[in-house]
Amino acid sequence: MLILMQSDHTKKQLSDVLAKVRKLKLQPHVIPGKQSVAVGITGNSGALDPHLFDGLPGVREAVRVSRPYKLSGRDFKHEDTIVPIGPYNLGGPDLIVIAGPCAVESEEQMLRIAHAVKKAGAQMLRGGAFKPRTSPYAFQGLGKKGLQLLAKARKETGLPIVTEVLDQRSLEDVAEYADVLQVGARNMQNFALLKEIGKLRKPVMLKRGLSATLDEWLMSAEYLLSEGNKNVFLCERGIRAFSDHARNTLDLNAVPAIKELSHLPIIVDPSHATGVRARVAPMARAAVAAGAHGLMIEVHDRPDQALCDGPQALHPDDFAVLMRDIAAISAAIGGGLAVPKYGAK
Ligand code: PEP
Ligand code: MN
Repeated sequence: MLILMQSDHTKKQLSDVLAKVRKLKLQPHVIPGKQSVAVGITGNSGALDPHLFDGLPGVREAVRVSRPYKLSGRDFKHEDTIVPIGPYNLGGPDLIVIAGPCAVESEEQMLRIAHAVKKAGAQMLRGGAFKPRTSPYAFQGLGKKGLQLLAKARKETGLPIVTEVLDQRSLEDVAEYADVLQVGARNMQNFALLKEIGKLRKPVMLKRGLSATLDEWLMSAEYLLSEGNKNVFLCERGIRAFSDHARNTLDLNAVPAIKELSHLPIIVDPSHATGVRARVAPMARAAVAAGAHGLMIEVHDRPDQALCDGPQALHPDDFAVLMRDIAAISAAIGGGLAVPKYGAK
């Protein structure tokens, strides 16, 4: 439900509306607008009767919001959300590129690759310390030691770090070190984890589930937002379809579709979406052309020795070429690569 206030409503009339919403054990969200103020309501499990509100003094109209996601949709908040991360803003016209290895493997590996992606112009560094692997026998990540190595790489390069949180047990540790908490595709509907992350204020990158619809994805974002964490952005990483030529099917159509439905920034991960090194750059360029706010790219300087996802990792030299190409594509559609807001290293 969205309550539209008259343009000449008084403060008292607005606070009476808020009190009435709270009395119904629901949560009001004041939404300032160009003409007047609106009040969005969340917390109701079924549809609310507009007559509960539309006769109140100062109220112009109460309208039903048909979409189940309220805080992540555009009905309650029309303007694009900007997520501040270190010296960057994600969600505006300027592209953010998150790059690094699939997994943190050792100090030398992490530092070498961190410097290489920084040199190529990446804005942020990725690396998994806790890895969700299909096989329990595969490398599971270095855990807390991996987080400490990421922190070292951040200290040396100044790049904010993005790393995955697998479960509630490790959340506190991951949140202590990460600049962005990554929720992986397999955890997109781990609602207990989403609720805990929602209580923090740290930026969250929510990857799309392997077979999630856009509604399901935005409902998962709603879990984060409804707990109070507004620093949420989405990452399209390919979905499971019938194609047998790639690891996943990159749903680039999701980029303009999400931008229509939601105010949250959306980035694209062409590495997991293709699984094949030679296809990463073409799909990264396409994602930028489609209007993505950023990219996440796996980079490894010795991919044949990588403990995880070597076949899809770009060599730093190829990554540097890609950075130049996407800068040109972004410029052609009114953007560019993001530059630090203040003197980052
Ligand atoms: C990753 O980014 O390393 C990862 C495991 O991705 P996804 O959750 O998309 O499979
Ligand atoms: Mn990976």
